[in-house]
Amino acid sequence: MIEANNPELKSWIEVEPDSDFPIQNLPFGIIRPVHGDPRPATRIGNIAIDLSVLADFGFFDHLDIDDLSVFYQPILNPLMALGKPAWSAIRKTLSDLFRLESTELLQNEEARNLALIPVEDVVMEMPVMVGDYTDFYSSIEHATNVGVMFRDPANALFPNWKHLPVGYHGRSSSIVVSGTNIHRPKGQTLPKDASKPVLGSSKLVDFELEMAFITGKESKLGESIPIEQTEEYIFGMVLFNDLSARDIQKWEYVPLGPFLAKSFGSVISPWIVTMEALQPFRVEGPKQDPPVLPYLKSEGKDNYDIQLEVSLTPDNGAETTLCRSNYKYLYWSVKQQLAHQTVNGCNIRIGDMYGSGTISGPSPDSYGSMLELSWQGTKPISLNEGGDRKFIHDNDTITMRGHCQNNRLRIGFGECLTKILPAN
Ligand code: MN
Repeated sequence: MIEANNPELKSWIEVEPDSDFPIQNLPFGIIRPVHGDPRPATRIGNIAIDLSVLADFGFFDHLDIDDLSVFYQPILNPLMALGKPAWSAIRKTLSDLFRLESTELLQNEEARNLALIPVEDVVMEMPVMVGDYTDFYSSIEHATNVGVMFRDPANALFPNWKHLPVGYHGRSSSIVVSGTNIHRPKGQTLPKDASKPVLGSSKLVDFELEMAFITGKESKLGESIPIEQTEEYIFGMVLFNDLSARDIQKWEYVPLGPFLAKSFGSVISPWIVTMEALQPFRVEGPKQDPPVLPYLKSEGKDNYDIQLEVSLTPDNGAETTLCRSNYKYLYWSVKQQLAHQTVNGCNIRIGDMYGSGTISGPSPDSYGSMLELSWQGTKPISLNEGGDRKFIHDNDTITMRGHCQNNRLRIGFGECLTKILPAN
């Protein structure tokens, strides 16, 4: 077992039992203190820990890291570039410093006072500079629902779907961190029974419940990453709200796929949970039938049991849970996604992001978008405060949450929230 994952460990920082951030999590993020520049941090309970202060006081000096400037950068890309053994060593150092038995930092009052900051006193910044962004389509339930609605219930999945992880290349410039509000997009739509399109604000703004993984290692152009080596490249995961304008999408997506309907904003949770912290929650994925080609073949626990939920809160209103799903339903694993991404020799870079696709489960209360939950607007969703929704209204806030739980440990992602503002 990885020592930092030991469920017996306790921290001298107080952690509530239902916290997403026990000492076994130790995610990475970028904080901006009230007076100061953005810098790398981790989190235990409700305390953000400034890694630049720990570096100032020499707590990383014993590590085999030549350039400690990675702990002072406004993005995590340089830290990720150190490679997987360093990710693990940094996490182990943090685990050692903050465990109950450890007194080194606890007794250094100056370092402790500078490094530990209540999370309400920091602003969370975008943790990585995203280079390229791929969005997969890896939930069989979601792909089937969309196929039933838009194509043919008898042939809901395209013939390729069970042979490769379908995806498209998205826009990275508009990926933003939780708390960033997004204006309702304008675009072309074809009104019902009209013969010509109009330009206007989207009437069908939707969320997509996704998670994304982030690569922390480069590959070379012309090389493919063998599936058994893919995990060397993956740093961690975040919650991912891939906002979508369904009316714009419907008119524009043929023949090349989604374009402006998806690029007006996608929102990530601010703390990147490392793949190492997620190891205790590995599970087997769904059985793949027909068998996949050898370059996609991988046996064992390649999926993750991550409970997910989405809620909607009207302006000054009450929160309503819209759906509960689980990452483990995904048909294609992160290993298969990355092996497929590079099979043609396309190189990947540090900070690239890979959305899972909407994560729908088997039951109607587990569907990961309003398109499916309201079944194209034919089944309005009741709100706790009264009224209903088919799609997102102006000033509604969408909140995504995710966590792993077994009988000894809870590891979570915190929240990913965004408010939809009126069109500009
Ligand atoms: Mn998507």
